[in-house]
Amino acid sequence: MEQDRNRTAHRCQCPDCKQDRGGRLAGQHAAIIAFLAILNERDRRRMAAFLARQEGRGGIAQIARISGLSRNTIRRGLRELTTPDALSSPRIRRPGGGRTRSEKKIPTLRAGDGGSFARHHRG
Ligand SMILES: [Zn+2]
Repeated sequence: MEQDRNRTAHRCQCPDCKQDRGGRLAGQHAAIIAFLAILNERDRRRMAAFLARQEGRGGIAQIARISGLSRNTIRRGLRELTTPDALSSPRIRRPGGGRTRSEKKIPTLRAGDGGSFARHHRG
């Protein structure tokens, strides 16, 4: 699949991976990269932030190197993980991404009014 080529284009640039592309760490890092690649930008940022937090000290720098995301991006993700308000921010909604309200197309049926109502409101 063409998409898969793009997803695996990025390779981890950390010293461990450069030294041993087939090593255990390289495998872990490649898995992280592959997983981040299927996420959208927002989730990728937050997943990277989550991983950075797991790493503890120096985690941001390390995950930045693995993921190719900037440290600022990961810091932003960390803020979003720790600030509930950021999670529900309207800014993360994509235009047109909302659901169409079904009520809009379905006229209210009143008792005893079914037949003529349906004829009047076709289409
Ligand atoms: Zn690596």
